[in-house]
Amino acid sequence: MSLVKLSEIVMEFEIGSFFKKSRLRAVDRVSIDIERGEVYGLVGESGSGKSTLGRVSLRLYRPTSGSVIFNGIDITNVPERHLRKLRRRMQLIPQDPYSSVNPFYTIEEALVEPLLTHNSIDRKEAVEEAKKILEEVGLVPAEEYLSRRPQQLSGGQLQRVAIARAMILKPDYIVADEPTSNLDASIRASIVKLISDFQKRLNQALLFISHDIALVSLLAQRIGVMYLGQLVEEGNSRNIVKDPLHPYTKALLSAIPLAEELKIEKVVLKGEIGDPSNPPKGCRLHPRCPYAMQLCKNKEPPVISIENRKIKCWLYTEK
Ligand code: SF4
Repeated sequence: MSLVKLSEIVMEFEIGSFFKKSRLRAVDRVSIDIERGEVYGLVGESGSGKSTLGRVSLRLYRPTSGSVIFNGIDITNVPERHLRKLRRRMQLIPQDPYSSVNPFYTIEEALVEPLLTHNSIDRKEAVEEAKKILEEVGLVPAEEYLSRRPQQLSGGQLQRVAIARAMILKPDYIVADEPTSNLDASIRASIVKLISDFQKRLNQALLFISHDIALVSLLAQRIGVMYLGQLVEEGNSRNIVKDPLHPYTKALLSAIPLAEELKIEKVVLKGEIGDPSNPPKGCRLHPRCPYAMQLCKNKEPPVISIENRKIKCWLYTEK
């Protein structure tokens, strides 16, 4: 049984001014599921809806329609006060660590707070747990860090604190939302390894969100590729890298440094990602796709399955 199962998720936001409101559909009918112990990589450009989908999966957003099942329980419409017990089992590692650690807290307070809220332990035990996890994330000597505040740490150190805060309750499900994109290139690998080590040790389901398909392919067993709110390809990570089918996946892969070595077909898209509040009709990629046909402009392709792969493209569908 999947630990997390998202079915036909639609997430819309109201945008515009008081006088002229409209709706932006950030996620459009996306279904994915993640097993316990599995790393699922969600990739796509900024504006593809992947972070929104991650937040829906944690029920930080209530979807407009569709369902969110966690460990067999339908939590789609569960009110926040009833979600509190589940919150300890599902955590977010955000892109910006400064957003996850209260600037007025010391690191000790930031780490002790979730333990005192969710576990029946006293403060002394909680501080001991905080020290232990600081050591696990490489912030030593732990005592020195406990009294510091977020602004006294570097971005990399604070991301380690954010990881410690997310992991201190030993959750079953983690969403890591571009956890390295705000960090210096020299420390990215160590942050990814840290998350991956926790995931393996705690046998967690991990949704790893990134625009970097090369990075995701190193971590994830399965990859989902999103474009303008829709899932356009999903499959086993190795198969996707070896033999990408969707033109958008091919374009993402042909932009990675090892593309030539891996003999990945070069696909260059025209222009920039479209406007999510006004996506193109038919296939959403058609204004940019080098393979676009007349049909692509008029009619949205369905999602079909080919050998354990989901794909949304007319090139693979009986017209
Ligand atoms: Fe390109 Fe058409 Fe496939 Fe869309 S459906 S990705 S436009 S070939």
